[in-house]
Amino acid sequence: MEIIILFKNLTSLTIAGGSAIGIVDIPFNELGIPSSSIKGVMRTAISNLLPNASCGEIEPGRLEKAHGSSPCDVCKLFGYPNSKDGACFTILVDQVKEEKHLITRVSIDDKTQKAKDGSLFTQQIIKPGVEFKATIIYKCENDAKLFNLLLYSLSALRYWRLGRNAMIDVKVLTKKDEVCKKIKCNDETEKLFDSLSDYLWG
Ligand SMILES: [Zn+2]
Repeated sequence: MEIIILFKNLTSLTIAGGSAIGIVDIPFNELGIPSSSIKGVMRTAISNLLPNASCGEIEPGRLEKAHGSSPCDVCKLFGYPNSKDGACFTILVDQVKEEKHLITRVSIDDKTQKAKDGSLFTQQIIKPGVEFKATIIYKCENDAKLFNLLLYSLSALRYWRLGRNAMIDVKVLTKKDEVCKKIKCNDETEKLFDSLSDYLWG
């Protein structure tokens, strides 16, 4: 099943290619929003907001111990090393082609709160208000609980930081009725869907 979602960037967003520190005008990689970052941020956000759903581990050795006889819900949904079934979903983020801007920043030393020597650098940013689309390909259709957890993870993105400081909003474009034909939606699913049918922050 495919679910189309839309992200809206609320702040100046730098994810890839922005962290190099050096002299002005260093060449940058093409700015992109890696799908794996979005998925990683969803996982971190939901593990922090719903700690009971997550084993809190990412190291393969410790995971096995934490899981015992059955993996935690977050690992079932997002996948984990040596998993037989793989993750319940993948996410593909459309790349933002336009709307990139260069800004010049100065790197501040965390300890002294002063600019570091030679620390002027440029970053490519995506301006606030830019929207980008993503497709979630979901395969655990017979598990409403895990699907609800996916919706919680999307909601959690609205309260989390992407990259260093950026905030994003998210809404689901695919209609609830369409999804509930394929998944046994319960009251919780419907409520989550309603809350995701439009942007939270406007
Ligand atoms: Zn786990």
